[in-house]
Amino acid sequence: MRSPMRWAPRAFPCPPRRPRCGPSPRRTRCARRRNEGGHAMYAFDYQRPAAIADAVALLRDLEEPKLLAGGQTLLPTLKQRLAQPGTLVDLSRIPGLSGIEATGEGVRIGAMTRHAAVANSDTVRAIVPSLAELASVIGDPAVRNRGTIGGSLANNDPTADYPAGLLGLGGTILTDRRHIAADDFFTGLFETALEEDEMIVAVEVPRVARAAYRKFRNPASRYAMAGVFVAQGAGGGLPCAACQGDAEAGGGSDRRLGACSGPPPATAGGRPAAAQAAAGVRYGLDCACDRAGGRPEWAMTALFHGLSAFPLTPADDEGIVDTDGLGILIQRLVEAGVDSIGLLGSTGTYAYLDPAQRGRAVAAAAEAVAGRVPLIVSVGAMRTSWAKALAREAEHAGAAGLLLAPLSYTPLTEGEVARHFRAVAGTTALPLCIYNNPGTTHFTFSRALIAELAAIPNIAAIKMPLPADGDCAGELAALKRETSPGFAVGYSGDWGAAAALLAGGQAWYSVVAGLLPKPALRLTRAALEGRVDEAEMVNAAFQPLWGLFRAHSSLRIMYEIADCLSLPVGHPPAPLGRVDKTAANAVGHALDTLMALPETAPSAR
Ligand SMILES: Cc1cc2nc3c(=O)[nH]c(=O)nc-3n(C[C@H](O)[C@H](O)[C@H](O)COP(=O)(O)OP(=O)(O)OC[C@H]3O[C@@H](n4cnc5c(N)ncnc54)[C@H](O)[C@@H]3O)c2cc1C
Repeated sequence: MRSPMRWAPRAFPCPPRRPRCGPSPRRTRCARRRNEGGHAMYAFDYQRPAAIADAVALLRDLEEPKLLAGGQTLLPTLKQRLAQPGTLVDLSRIPGLSGIEATGEGVRIGAMTRHAAVANSDTVRAIVPSLAELASVIGDPAVRNRGTIGGSLANNDPTADYPAGLLGLGGTILTDRRHIAADDFFTGLFETALEEDEMIVAVEVPRVARAAYRKFRNPASRYAMAGVFVAQGAGGGLPCAACQGDAEAGGGSDRRLGACSGPPPATAGGRPAAAQAAAGVRYGLDCACDRAGGRPEWAMTALFHGLSAFPLTPADDEGIVDTDGLGILIQRLVEAGVDSIGLLGSTGTYAYLDPAQRGRAVAAAAEAVAGRVPLIVSVGAMRTSWAKALAREAEHAGAAGLLLAPLSYTPLTEGEVARHFRAVAGTTALPLCIYNNPGTTHFTFSRALIAELAAIPNIAAIKMPLPADGDCAGELAALKRETSPGFAVGYSGDWGAAAALLAGGQAWYSVVAGLLPKPALRLTRAALEGRVDEAEMVNAAFQPLWGLFRAHSSLRIMYEIADCLSLPVGHPPAPLGRVDKTAANAVGHALDTLMALPETAPSAR
């Protein structure tokens, strides 16, 4: 049984609870490192075989050989003198060890295939998108461009991501001599079923009905503090596999949480972190690829449906985001039970924040949400390359979906907008919602363009402005005719939300819900469930606010509402300013009207 990186440097420089060093001089590394205090690696020989058989022969014949793949774990270990191999056997020149191919049943990935190649592979995205998603959240770009799937599996770090994916998918590890089911491969903390002279040559994962991976990252290393991979195989059950930061509990075959026929378990083997992640992954499953229709179709039961609340982004006068303040706003939304959070929308003043501050806001929001509610991040930007970078960053930070508006200074043509959306959608595995907001972008989407964009596999929804003629039902019918059944149509424009939802709109992208989620949620639920009287009653209580939104812009009024609620949001970004005193007082009165809303619906009284 192989234990490749017993002294992994990242988590346990000289671990007190690891098996103690034996009598061999090479096994007293921790003590020697302290005594010598040097930083150079121990000397070793280097071999670069040209064939798998040659590499295996070197493993068999040499003293203390060690395979070198991406070096992302091995090299730091050597640099810290935590390992002292006799010879490094570099796998980089062996042909055929790297690459991805579709098989009849799924995908075969060569052992030397980099994480970035898996994340960006069209083949993996088409057949096992959850694995591409998993690979895209490993470490940072440097790690993803060097680290390999074979190295990660052989290392079996309890906080690594791939082992959970392989277990959840029911994958197989192919070595130079045999096939090992993932269930039998991971035998303990940094331990695998590999023989001392055995090497991984490839990995096979089957196509599954749907699957998803979610992890809570260590903010520094980005290893999983807790992570859950859930897959639904052909049999319909849900085998759940967890990897987690509790190294003593999660390193071996007990990563597997067990098969279950319903949703992920509320408690997972008594491990609260894993159970929390299991709960967080539910919405991930909803956005997993459902390929029943032959081509990827996003099945959205949570994302882009119901109430999406758009918080302000608290910031100082220089545009530095107040991450604590943002955390407070997010926590209120999570506690209220909104269906999703729309970060950095127009209400979140994305157009007034530089990319670094947008990144800070996304990271802070993802941390505050902690997987409890889907986080939808707006990634609109003037340049396509900027929007792509923002999309990748949001995905990496843990966003569940994206919103994209066609921002521009020079008016855009339909062809330019189509290219922009294709490019951004192609850079991410996340589902994307078209942010149709002509009031701010000055671009009007034609129905033909919406239909064209809706055919892109991960463009899953559109956020529409209220129709000029007020005919939501007519517009919805036309859009539904021209797009696929899974494509969700929702509305913004708070004062028309009740009518839009009652007409069949599937989501309310709500400004006011960013600060007043509870009455907004009540309106949404009543309208979506067809309780017309109650929806109209709540909407009537909102009327004074709607009037102020229309007269002064919803963004300015939101800052006044935040003041009334003593919420820390700072000021509107200059040159935007505050409303005058009369309007500010009117906001207080409007909130009084809303607070006087009866608890029960008219029909229930
Ligand atoms: C800063 C940082 C952050 C990271 N974050 C994450 C993260 O978030 N999630 C995550 O999962 N991982 C993370 N990693 C680890 C990363 O994914 C590594 O790529 C991985 O652990 C090892 O892969 P490698 O190709 O670099 O292997 P190497 O470091 O070259 O080798 C690792 C071990 O595997 C053995 N080995 C390599 N290839 C084979 C083979 N084909 N057959 C048998 N044995 C083999 C080696 O002998 C060695 O013992 C991170 C690493 C760093 C440095």
